[in-house]
Amino acid sequence: MIISMRPHATRDEIDHVCERIRDFGYRIHTIEGDERVVIGVVGVGDVTACLESLEATPGVERAVRISAPYKFVSKEFKKERTQMEIQGVELGGGEFVVMAGPCSVESERQIMETAEAVAAAGAKILRGGAYKPRTSPYDFQGMEEEGLKLLAKARAATGLGIITEVMSEKDVELVAEYADIMQVGARNMQNFSLLKALGKCGRPVMLKRGMSSTIKELLMSAEYVTAHGNPQVMLCERGIRTFETATRNTCDIAAVPVLNEMTHLPVILDPSHATGKRSLVPALARAGVAIGADGLIVEVHPCPEKAVSDGAQSLTLKGFAEMMRDLQPYIELWKESRVAEPVLV
Ligand code: PEP
Ligand code: MN
Repeated sequence: MIISMRPHATRDEIDHVCERIRDFGYRIHTIEGDERVVIGVVGVGDVTACLESLEATPGVERAVRISAPYKFVSKEFKKERTQMEIQGVELGGGEFVVMAGPCSVESERQIMETAEAVAAAGAKILRGGAYKPRTSPYDFQGMEEEGLKLLAKARAATGLGIITEVMSEKDVELVAEYADIMQVGARNMQNFSLLKALGKCGRPVMLKRGMSSTIKELLMSAEYVTAHGNPQVMLCERGIRTFETATRNTCDIAAVPVLNEMTHLPVILDPSHATGKRSLVPALARAGVAIGADGLIVEVHPCPEKAVSDGAQSLTLKGFAEMMRDLQPYIELWKESRVAEPVLV
């Protein structure tokens, strides 16, 4: 932190500020100019509380935080990429991982058919919501545990890992019994009790960016999970809410390289929720590969027009296979660029 005193602050005011800073457990380096005193504050402590207190202390003009408020998820804490193994797939490393499946698990037939098809097309993880966050309480809310059981059955049949959403702290234990990756939906990105519980769930977590959340807030939410004991976190850009109405959300594609600069955590792009339109998904998926995401999460349904949720943005089984085929050359280039990355020490 840097504390800038008002011009001509009195000696008593300066001494009092220094005393407050020491009360918080920090060390002090002062720079005394002709007109004003600037105080450098170093050490470890509750930065927010200290800043708030100093801003209210007489003689202080401005109190500014210098270091990032997140620690474990930052590149400064760890330079090399965080990798995690999920059902034999290395995510965050040299493999571009595609997760695919329906928005909601609807029936045994629907999930089995989708799982077989996406596995044959090259997906490594099966997605499917068993607990659905719906805007309307009258819409389909998900098959809950029955849906989780169907996902486990699909895993047994295909070898695909499973990603599924957990909406509430009370369901963490149950969902963790079935899921290989615990998905936190956009609407729950700042559900801090849920994030804390996921710190203890023993499974990788995929945190989707809230629709009105900044990148910094996304990283702070990831920090919650890591600070509570779980370093296996991946982040997902799924579009944010803007004034634009041509797409369901506005894909902040630059969030991918921004996150790659700021954090060692893997970054996944969701071209389905980012656009809301099937026709736009392949183009955005290509962009995700080209811009350096670690993987994609894509909605796929055997019959999108009959989907209980998100049919308009779901690819057909055939459409998904075509997209995967068309992505191949881009994924090859992606792999070359990963291999060429300098080894960080
Ligand atoms: C989903 O993945 O189906 C979903 C509900 O996504 P989001 O939380 O990004 O809206
Ligand atoms: Mn969906």
